[in-house]
Amino acid sequence: MEDHPPVAEFRDARWYAVRRAGSTKPATYRCPLCGKLLPALTEHVLVLPEGDSARRRHAHTACVMKARRAGRLPLRDEVLPRRPGLLARLLRRA
Ligand SMILES: [Zn+2]
Repeated sequence: MEDHPPVAEFRDARWYAVRRAGSTKPATYRCPLCGKLLPALTEHVLVLPEGDSARRRHAHTACVMKARRAGRLPLRDEVLPRRPGLLARLLRRA
């Protein structure tokens, strides 16, 4: 098992970024969502609390999809309203 941040730290985030995992190391991780083992060479994703790669965790793709369907693991765009673009702001002021 590799060292990685504790699950409590993983959960303490307002939003998450999800990336494809491109690991080629024969490591085994523990999915922070189901607590089960995750061989690095199987299809899975990286979940980054608030985009922080230091807190990233390897998770089963199915677990992430299930959590998303249950309303967990909000993405940045769902939590932080996107600022209107420059053109939109200029047009509104006109
Ligand atoms: Zn899992």
